[in-house]
Amino acid sequence: MRFDFEQGPIRPPSESRSLLLRFTRNCPWNRCAFCPVYKGQAFSRRSLAEIKADIDTVRAIVDDVKALSWSMGEGGAVSEAVLQRILTDSTKSGTYRHVAVWLYHGDGTVFLQDANNPVLRTKDFVEALRYLKERVPGITRVTSYGRSATLARKSLEELREMREAGLDRVHIGLESGSDTVLKFMDKGATAAQHIEAGIKVKEAGMTLSEYVMPGLGGAQWSREHALETARVLEAIDPHFIRLRTLRVPPNTPLWEHLQSGAFQTLSDDDVVREIRLMIENLHSLHSTLTSDHMRNLLENLEGTFPHDKPKLLDIIDQYLALSDDDRILYRLGRYGGALRCVDDLPAYRPRLARARRELEQETGKPIDALIDELGGQYL
Ligand code: SF4
Repeated sequence: MRFDFEQGPIRPPSESRSLLLRFTRNCPWNRCAFCPVYKGQAFSRRSLAEIKADIDTVRAIVDDVKALSWSMGEGGAVSEAVLQRILTDSTKSGTYRHVAVWLYHGDGTVFLQDANNPVLRTKDFVEALRYLKERVPGITRVTSYGRSATLARKSLEELREMREAGLDRVHIGLESGSDTVLKFMDKGATAAQHIEAGIKVKEAGMTLSEYVMPGLGGAQWSREHALETARVLEAIDPHFIRLRTLRVPPNTPLWEHLQSGAFQTLSDDDVVREIRLMIENLHSLHSTLTSDHMRNLLENLEGTFPHDKPKLLDIIDQYLALSDDDRILYRLGRYGGALRCVDDLPAYRPRLARARRELEQETGKPIDALIDELGGQYL
């Protein structure tokens, strides 16, 4: 369910601007209680030969697209006309189109997908990265997901080798700094490993993003989750902190804990209060906080510490100061895809109030249940 408000601020997602490659398949841990990704899919390392063959394919497509551009009088540039020609040619594969779109955007960014590419033998990972940079022209940045348990095991020398071979940025799923929460969620990493991995990645010269999951402590550990996550973030001082609010996916261990009563989720308002507590306790870091996901209630909760801390707290307080009715309308509008921030609410209030009445009448369900259903679509 998604509202169709013309000229709303939410635009449909565009195709990835990054070149997406895989050095591994799926997740080697595959156990986190809240994670719906890769469930039941076996992890494997891709061989160096396979990775190199993929890179050679990308290079061949790049050459082919450029040759097409020259033949169309576009001087080797991947213009809109060149892209159109490729996208309307039914003989071109999905990979070919993906590379063409990447060249068209021209950002030069590469994203190594799946959960933990650094789990490859360092020698192989480094060789794959070098080969990528040598064979594919115009790469400006290479990013990979990585698990703290793996990165903490690697020596600083190994991480420096990865950096020198071309790995610029690492995204780590911190989720929580609380050992109680990490253990309950079977995250496979401790707070100490998170700190060790984060510090090493930075020392090796890479840009570090830590993903934090507000709400993951549930009702029982919310305070500990907020305070311990703040403590771990302070110790790491990552370049970016990215918020991904918990939604409990069906058919996960956490869903079963929810059904049995072993875990209780927080209300949206309590999640906002939890984020406030975490931010309040961030004193000395220099990270940039981003809230770039529809799972987050306040998408404008973005800024760089320490300068923007008062602004971030103000954004939260602006939401918490809304009347009960307005907070309901805001949540309805946010998860319905119409709103990004509280300032968007006045323009949509009459339509949201009408939508609320109609939804309640049509379904007979309480508004909180309807809003939960809306929010559940962003897993
Ligand atoms: S490490 Fe990441 S991808 Fe793997 S199970 Fe946990 S959350 Fe999912």
